[in-house]
Parts: sequence; structure tokens; C-alpha cells
Amino acid sequence: MPESVTFRDKGGNDPDALYYQVDLLKTLNEKLTDSIGVFDQFINMSGNAYAYYNFKNDYFEAVGNFEALFGMPASRRTDAELLVEYAMEEYRDALRELLKVEDQPGGEAKLEFCIEESHKWLEGHSLAIFDTDGSVVEKYVCFHDITRFKLQHDELSYLAYYDDLTGLLNRNFFIQKLNLLVQKAQEENVKVSVAMLDIDSFKRINDSIGLILGDELLQHVGQFLLSLNTENTIVGRFGTDVFVAAIYNPSGSDTIENLLDTIRRRLTKPFILSNKDEIYLTMTIGVASFPEASGSGFDVLQKTEICIYAAKDGNKGGVKYYDNELMRQFVANFALEKRLQDAIVASHFMLYYQPQYNVRTGKLRGCEALIRWRDEDGRFISPADFIPIAEKSGGIITIGKWVISTALQNYQIWQRLYGFDGILSINISAIQLKKDNFIDELLDYMRREQVNPENIEIEITESVFIDNFHDIIEKMKSMQQFGLRVSLDDFGTGFSSLSYLKNLPINTLKIDKSFIDTVITDDATGIITESIVSMVRRLGLETIAEGVEDERQMEFLKKIDCDNIQGFLLGKPMPEEEFEALIAADRQS
Ligand code: C2E
Ligand code: CA
Ligand code: CA
Repeated sequence: MPESVTFRDKGGNDPDALYYQVDLLKTLNEKLTDSIGVFDQFINMSGNAYAYYNFKNDYFEAVGNFEALFGMPASRRTDAELLVEYAMEEYRDALRELLKVEDQPGGEAKLEFCIEESHKWLEGHSLAIFDTDGSVVEKYVCFHDITRFKLQHDELSYLAYYDDLTGLLNRNFFIQKLNLLVQKAQEENVKVSVAMLDIDSFKRINDSIGLILGDELLQHVGQFLLSLNTENTIVGRFGTDVFVAAIYNPSGSDTIENLLDTIRRRLTKPFILSNKDEIYLTMTIGVASFPEASGSGFDVLQKTEICIYAAKDGNKGGVKYYDNELMRQFVANFALEKRLQDAIVASHFMLYYQPQYNVRTGKLRGCEALIRWRDEDGRFISPADFIPIAEKSGGIITIGKWVISTALQNYQIWQRLYGFDGILSINISAIQLKKDNFIDELLDYMRREQVNPENIEIEITESVFIDNFHDIIEKMKSMQQFGLRVSLDDFGTGFSSLSYLKNLPINTLKIDKSFIDTVITDDATGIITESIVSMVRRLGLETIAEGVEDERQMEFLKKIDCDNIQGFLLGKPMPEEEFEALIAADRQS
């Protein structure tokens, strides 16, 4: 028993009573120690740190995990001001405020702050106790670790603003920033130039290297584009393989020309992937500026997109700058596309047939089916105008099916009524041919109409080879195996090399009208046409000359041994009844 403690019994110095009181105190002391132990345990388990002030007694105590949260050793936990030093500079004043004596309204306050050394995020939460005249007597502060929550939050906001694959601005954030730049440019009377960059044939590259390497390639491109960021330039990713850059007040070295130059130079070198693959890319680029192209950021972006469409119509890998003529064409095409959609729904199409004749015998070889569109005002719109638009919008698939089924239905009638067994040529667009089930569907239609594949000729142009030469060749071979004929249309307008013809699985070659037009008037054309015909005959292919308009052309073609002719001279494209009459007449001749 400590010497300083003395007990005085009311009734005198009764030693028993004294012992009893000592025991009682001991028990109470043990209980208190136990409670403090439990309390400490809870504090430790909570992982939090707590500070307590009693302003009346000028007493401060810091308990709990200061070591883990602040990195503060126990020896320093004597003064609130020492705590403040652990926070990052910019939070120190606020933390001091949280800990300070003066009361806060309502007595409670909260603060998020970051620790200098560890970059841990803490939340401090204080509660002040007031006395009856309203001044603070005590204060309790609890600190806890919110780092994980904070990181998750940061990640979410990162994902909301940035593209996770490349680290470039994402679409929404780019548009938001661009709109601000345009607003500022308007106030300051300067320009904002925008370039949209589209990697050419990315889908094909992605298909051939696989998704994972495809992503890696995009990351490389993204990293390069990220390096184009300057004080005045922002770069974002818009879609899988579409990127955008905007330059505020282009001047000095920050100009679109310089930017495009840098990109062009980069693209002369390959992107090297982790498996050592070297990939060369080209990009199609559209450029438009505020205020020339439009008055808002979003509009300028749309204009760059229009430029890309236009650029892709020409050669890939090109750059197109926005101008009024481009816009006029776009608007006209857009209107036509809208009407075309309506026409598909209302089936405003007709199928005409243009006869083809054997030059030697003068007999009907067959015909080519050519689509006609008569709009609601009764005007004919040329397929040369609407087919390319239907190819872009995908409407060609529906139109193409209609052409095939209508042509085969008619053929079946001619067959039944007149025993017709000539050749029916049907034009097929690359988009149709690329469809996986194209041949199956075609064969289905033929089975339904009981038309023999040997009487059907599929006309394709060289453009079908652009994207995927080998697949298309396989398809052509497979069509031939089913007995179908394959014809190469418009020969002379594409790459038209005679040497590659011998490797193509085709039956017929159609010599383009542009040759026939000058075959009489231009000696060189005459000679070329003659050599094409003789070479093609030697390859065992049939020839058809297209667009024969006068007798002299026909005589010339006969002389050089061209097999067949098709043209206004012997018959324009005509409705089905008229063609039926031709069949009937041919049978009698
Ligand atoms: P194409 O396949 O080269 O068709 C021949 C075009 O030349 C037809 O134009 C025909 O009317 C025209 N033509 C024939 N002989 C003469 C002639 O002696 N003089 C002149 N000036 N022209 C002649 P059309 O019908 O306007 O078709 C244009 C193009 O539209 C076709 O060129 C073809 O590429 C496409 N097309 C037409 N129908 C279809 C179709 O059903 N499907 C697809 N995918 N394309 C089609
Ligand atoms: Ca044709
Ligand atoms: Ca043609």
C-alpha cells in the first residue's frame, strides 16, 4: 500500500475497516485497469487515432494509431501543433483550424487531408463540448484512413474523363474542353483548328493480329498522340481507332500543318509490338476550324467527320480540309440517303433488262439486270448516283436481295413461257459479296425459282478486291463450283492489268464503255482493245463490249473477234414486258 495514502475510520483506528477499504480500492483499481485495457484494445482495433483536449485544464492527449496514420512516433504526441506538421503543406491551415480551441458552429467539423510522407489520405472529424456560457471546454478528434476510398474515387473520376487504354482525353471530356476553347476563341477573336484522325483498315489489322495486340497497337498510337499535347493542343480518343486533336489559336510551331507533318513522319516508321511485329499504319484525316467551318465546338467536330467520309471516298491515307463545296455535296447526299431509305421501305424500284447479243450469230446471248428508281415525283434517279450511297448506308443489302429475287422470278417466267435459257447477269456490290451467307442465300433463291446456276452470271468490279483479295477469290471460286458464272465488269477503269487476269476465277470480261467510245476515233484505243480481246480469248474467257452506240463500233468489234456486245445500238435497258417480246422475237429468228 502506498505510504502517502492514509485512511481514517469514523469511529477510530479500526484496522479491519482499514483493510477492508484497501481491498475495495484494489478491486476498483483492477476493474479500472481492465476497462482501460479493453478500451485500448478497441482503439487499436479501430485503426483510428484520437486526440483529446481539455482546455480548462490545458490537457492534451493523443491515443491510438498515430504511428500508422501520421507516421508520428509516440514521443511526439504531446502537442497538437506537432501533428499539423505531418500534413501536406496545403492542408496544414485547415488541420490547424480543425484542432484549434475556438468553437465551430454546431460543434462538429470534418476535414480530408493528405500526409506529406506517405501520401495517405486521412479524414479528421472533431466534436467540441461547450459549457453553459458557450465556450469550448473539451474537444474530441478522430482521424481515420480514407486512402482506399479516395483512390477508388480518383479512379472513377479518371475513367469519367480519360480513355483508360491510351490515357488521352475521352470523348465527353474532349468535347467539353473543345467547347471551352471555342468559347474563349470567340471572346478573343482567334481560331481553333480541329483534326480528326481515323486509322485506315483498323478492323482488318485487328482481325489479323488479334484483340490483345490490337489494343497494344492502339496504345502505341495513343502514346505517340499524347506526345503532341502542348499548352495549346489537346488530344482525345473518340472511338476504337478514331482520334482528335484541337489547337487553340494555331500559331508559331503549333499549327495544323506542323501537327500533320509530325504525324506523317511518325507513320513512315512502323509501330513495334511486344511480339516484334512491325505494323505500318496510314490514317485518313479531316480538318475543320472555328470560326470558318462553324460556330460551335461540336459542329466543328462534325465537320471534320464529314471531311473523313469525303476523304475515304478518294484514297485512304488522305487529308481533307473542310470547305463549302464539300458541305453542299454532303447535304445533297444526305437528302438522297433519306429518300433512298423511304424508297426501300415503299419499294419504289423497278428492274430493267438490257439485251446482250452474240456478235457472230446476231442471236440474243441474254441480258443484264439494271435497277431503276422512280421517286414519288415520277423522276428517275440514276443507279450511278444512289448505289454508292446505298453501299455506304448498308441499304444495298436490302436492295441487292430485291434485285436478285426479282430477276430470278422473271427469269423463271421467261423459262416457263418461252423456254428461255440465255444468260442473266446480275450486278453485285462488294458489300453484298462480303456477307458470309451471300452464296447460300443466292443458291436458295435459285432453288426456289428453279433456275439453273449455269444461266446466272454474277457481275463484280475490281473494287471488290480492295479490302480482302484472298477471301473474295475464294468466294468467286466457290460460286464457280456451284456452276455460277462470274464476270469482271468495267474492265479498263481499275488497275486493269492483263497479267493478273489469268489468276482470276472469272468466265467473262466486260470491256468498259470508255474504251468503246473512242475505239474508232483513237488509234491507240483501237489497238489496246484489240489486244485485250485477243489475250482474253486466249485465256478462254468470254468478252462483252459495253456501251456500243453505233454501227462502226459494232463492225470494229466484230472484226477483232469480240464475242458479245451490249449497248444502246441494239437495245437500251427496258422493262420486263419489252424484254419478253425480244425473247419471243429472237426465238422466231
Ligand atoms: P454498269 O454495271 O456498268 O451498267 C452498265 C451501264 O451502262 C448501265 O447504266 C447502262 O444503262 C449503261 N449503258 C449500256 N449501254 C449503253 C450505251 O450504249 N450508251 C450509254 N451511254 N450507256 C449505256 P445504268 O443502268 O445507269 O447503271 C449504272 C451503274 O449502276 C451500273 O453500271 C452498275 O454499276 C450500277 N447498277 C445498276 N443496277 C445495279 C444493281 O442492280 N446492283 C448494283 N450493285 N449495281 C447496279
Ligand atoms: Ca454491270
Ligand atoms: Ca459496266
